[in-house]
Amino acid sequence: MSEPFPHLSQPLDLGFTTLRNRVVMGSMHTGLEDRARDTGRLAEYFAERARGGTGLIITGGYSPNRTGWLLPFGASLTSEREARTHRRVTSAVQAAGGKIALQILHAGRYAYHPLSVSASTVKSPITPFRPRALSGRGIRATIADFARCAALARKAGYDGVEIMGSEGYLINQFLAARTNRRRDEWGGSWANRMRLPVEIVRQVRAAVGEDFIIVYRLSLLDLVPSGQSWDEVVELALAVQNAGATLINSGIGWHEARVPTIVTSVPRAAFADLTGKLRPHLSIPVIASNRINMPDVAEGVLARGEADLVSLARPLLADPEWVAKSTEGRADEINTCIACNQACLDHVFRHRTATCLVNPRAAHETQLVLRPATPPRRIAVVGAGPAGLAAATTLARRGHTVTLFEAAEEIGGQFNLAKRIPGKEEFHETVRYFARQLDLLGVSLRLGHRVDTSQLREDGFDEVLLATGVVPRTPAIPGVDHPTVLSYVDVLRGARVGRRVAVIGAGGIGFDVCEFLTSTDSSALDVKRWRADWGVGDPEMARGGVEGVTRAAPSSPRQVYLIQRKTSKMGAGLGKTSGWVHRTTLRNKQVEMITGAGYRRIDDEGLHLEVGAEQRVLAVDNVVVCTGQEPLRDLAGDLRAAGVRTHLVGGADVAAELDAKRAIDQATRLAITL
Ligand code: FAD
Ligand code: NAP
Ligand code: SF4
Repeated sequence: MSEPFPHLSQPLDLGFTTLRNRVVMGSMHTGLEDRARDTGRLAEYFAERARGGTGLIITGGYSPNRTGWLLPFGASLTSEREARTHRRVTSAVQAAGGKIALQILHAGRYAYHPLSVSASTVKSPITPFRPRALSGRGIRATIADFARCAALARKAGYDGVEIMGSEGYLINQFLAARTNRRRDEWGGSWANRMRLPVEIVRQVRAAVGEDFIIVYRLSLLDLVPSGQSWDEVVELALAVQNAGATLINSGIGWHEARVPTIVTSVPRAAFADLTGKLRPHLSIPVIASNRINMPDVAEGVLARGEADLVSLARPLLADPEWVAKSTEGRADEINTCIACNQACLDHVFRHRTATCLVNPRAAHETQLVLRPATPPRRIAVVGAGPAGLAAATTLARRGHTVTLFEAAEEIGGQFNLAKRIPGKEEFHETVRYFARQLDLLGVSLRLGHRVDTSQLREDGFDEVLLATGVVPRTPAIPGVDHPTVLSYVDVLRGARVGRRVAVIGAGGIGFDVCEFLTSTDSSALDVKRWRADWGVGDPEMARGGVEGVTRAAPSSPRQVYLIQRKTSKMGAGLGKTSGWVHRTTLRNKQVEMITGAGYRRIDDEGLHLEVGAEQRVLAVDNVVVCTGQEPLRDLAGDLRAAGVRTHLVGGADVAAELDAKRAIDQATRLAITL
């Protein structure tokens, strides 16, 4: 049988070593790097990905010295003692047939502590600390620290290092005029600004010898004003290659950029063409990254010659067996990263250990262990939303006999509504994944079956898990039964909606419904349209890809108001790394956001509001209610009264602040214990 993804499966000979395929696990900070006591967990996390076939793993960032810490006492590699701790990680990965490189990351002015340093004293907009400008001596010492860190990595058993030169960290800060105001040999002209990375690569190569992988992560597109020009990017890539880099990885956008680079609404492989633009200039292999989450996308990038390798970070959190499933013709079994950031990056930014919404075992492999069921029992799961699906598959994997009842004609629960939101199309992958798993695991699926207490009792299940979800809350507003009022469920299922709309409730669903109502088509899937919407131009014409580029004029088929009672910032509860994207999108679509509103009534005139001392009537065709949900668990009381062992998970348990992360995590943890 021919290889399903021949380019992806192809080994890559680097001369002194061979990578078994073209998949690199991109660097992703999990928080486990920061504490020596978590080394065992980190080793198992990486080993699982090595067993799953990943060609080259790159660790989260380790600083080469104290000033470069991301956080106070953050991960660093500065001594023989620390290097010995890393042996546990490298040997676990290599025993599993993998290769692993340590990322060396100096945070520069992105450091979240008062020791931060940079090229100049220009403060970053995303950290509170003004950096100290490194002296010439300090720069030379920093370069030596990079070289020492690389040499220690080699001693620790790593197969290589990645030098983090992108995303706005220290090296980027030297490269760009926006942050480098120096007048010495490290600033001013481009030749001076690029001296730091080239010297680092040169001295790292000298420290590690020839038979050691050096990946340089190069910022292809800064996405900030006064960033690098394309000519500078190419010149730097050549210089880094000549200084001894083995591979060049692609970095896209500084952390302070106001263009999203990895959230769900960014089209798949949206930036791979830039890696393709660089590749012909170089003789060393290049790696494409960002929003490459499925093997057909990765294969396309490689087949088109845009890159020699692809980097996936979050997709390997979501599924450690991504490579094996891809290369063995089992792509339909992949648990796809939906790019929500909810359990990975949003956790890291809140100083919590990263994990994954669709795979709560990620970075918790040593804790969430699936043991065979003793004895296997007959278990009913009611409701095939995210909670019920996670529970049913986990129980079946452990050997229980599982029957899954679903009232609707399809599995997925509210994910079938979520996937209709423009920019959230990825959510359909989770439903596809679970459908395939139910099949493989032999779960008995009863669709179109609203089960009741008597049937559950008659069937004599040993245990029942109620994952029946939620019902939308109807707020006590006079006129809420007016014919112009719709619930978000009606709207997302295709109800006719007029041209002027008021959306009540500005939680995650209110925001999503506004995106739905203001979109004309699936523009989010089209890279050209998406770039125009976000003001991203050709870097050959626009410095950093954004300088002098204006955003396309927004077009919305409707005039929409989004309203909340709270006086706090709209969307304050949305994810840290994605909330700003939703707010910006709606602002661009001229959605009027009204905070501090009191709802007086809804009638033929529209929605009557009180905003401070002002009375307003919004003359709208429809009012869409997105005011949260209530748990649906009417079966629980009778089942328990009848002595049936009954458990509640997901929205059926607690509807307040429910999201799929909590639903899947809670269901998985419960299913592991039954
Ligand atoms: P549900 O998904 O509601 O599933 C419950 C299931 O039980 C339903 O399929 C129902 O038909 C079935 N059922 C009920 N009673 C019975 C019965 N008696 N017999 C058989 N079956 C029954 N969450 C996020 O984390 N991130 C997001 O970006 C996100 N976006 C969203 C966007 C939208 C538009 C919506 C609507 C939701 C979004 N959510 C998001 C929320 C997320 O979908 C929910 O938190 C999650 O679906 C809750 O899972 P659940 O399994 O508890 O309930
Ligand atoms: P929600 O976040 O609880 O928001 C409901 C909103 O309705 C609140 O902001 C509240 O704002 C308002 N409200 C509540 N009760 C009301 C009442 N009686 N009368 C009038 N207004 C009322 O719920 P949701 O938007 O339905 O979302 C459900 C869950 O799905 C959320 O917890 C969310 O995490 C998840 N989700 C996440 C995303 C994401 O992008 N991460 C997207 C969609 C959904 P005021 O009280 O200020 O008016
Ligand atoms: Fe992907 Fe979301 Fe999981 Fe992060 S939490 S790895 S973005 S699915």
